[in-house]
Amino acid sequence: MKEKIGFIGIGTMGKPMSINLLKAGYPLMVFDVNSKPLEELKEKGATAGKSSKEVASQSDVIITMLPNSGDVEKAMLGEMGVIEGARRDSIVIDMSTIDPSVSRKVARAFSPKGVKVLDAPVSGGQMGAIAATLAIMVGGDEATFQKCLPLFQAMGKKIVYCGPNGSGEIVKIINNLLAGINMIATAEALTLGVKAGVGLKTLYDAINASSGQNWAMQNYCGAKAFKGDFEPGFMAALMYKDLGLAMNLAKEEGIPLLIGGLSHQLYSNIVASGLGQKDSSIPVKMLEDLAKVKLRL
Ligand code: NAD
Repeated sequence: MKEKIGFIGIGTMGKPMSINLLKAGYPLMVFDVNSKPLEELKEKGATAGKSSKEVASQSDVIITMLPNSGDVEKAMLGEMGVIEGARRDSIVIDMSTIDPSVSRKVARAFSPKGVKVLDAPVSGGQMGAIAATLAIMVGGDEATFQKCLPLFQAMGKKIVYCGPNGSGEIVKIINNLLAGINMIATAEALTLGVKAGVGLKTLYDAINASSGQNWAMQNYCGAKAFKGDFEPGFMAALMYKDLGLAMNLAKEEGIPLLIGGLSHQLYSNIVASGLGQKDSSIPVKMLEDLAKVKLRL
């Protein structure tokens, strides 16, 4: 009999991830503050709980996939939260991208209850979540990680053990620091190329086979932005949050983030302009407007 899974946060990522757990044969109970996706999951065979506490009380493994550190603290440690329902020897896995210090705080809070906590943020976007090809970066007790490996393999392809609690988040934050910088660099460089008279397809094909190639250009830009689609995907507000996490980490470690800081400010400008709900590739549109060209494949 497979472990009973509780899944909290059925959003852009949590929905396809929880559907993949159902497909892999795990009994599943779901909860979200928004009831709409719960109906969809019920049609696919899950049951729906009324609170994080109820989901935790019915589950061997409780997974959260929530927007930010505050949401995770609230769902885990707040009123009617996971901590009020989790049974001794259950396992809690937070797959959201949050501050590593909050991951460590959550792990400490559950420890007296005999509940092990893993931080397991993911990369690969909505497409990777649907295809179950996510990269998953895991922090926490290694034996607990090994126990959860089949479950991670139902949602992802490359599963990496990173070290003690918070280490998965550190790896993810460093990844997204690069992803955010690459997105802005791609938008800027390719806009210049098009403005200077070369077609986007020529630039895109040549650079994809050259040293300027990067994931942001190939995936979010290639599949969406360069087709004129700026709907998320991965929201600009979430990229802003992740670059902010990198800024916090750099401050804690006493290290300057020069290009990262600039990228953080550019996403701050995007959010302040009311574009935070657009895809993180929205810098392409901003630079298109500035240069008065269109970047379309
Ligand atoms: P989302 O906003 O689409 O989904 C979050 C869900 O959590 C929503 O359905 C919301 O209603 C629910 N929620 C919020 N607070 C809650 C609470 N207290 N209790 C229960 N439900 C609650 O966000 P997303 O895009 O799925 O991202 C989730 C996390 O994954 C974020 O930390 C993000 O940075 C990370 N991530 C996202 C992507 C992506 O491409 N979208 C890729 C990798 C990592």
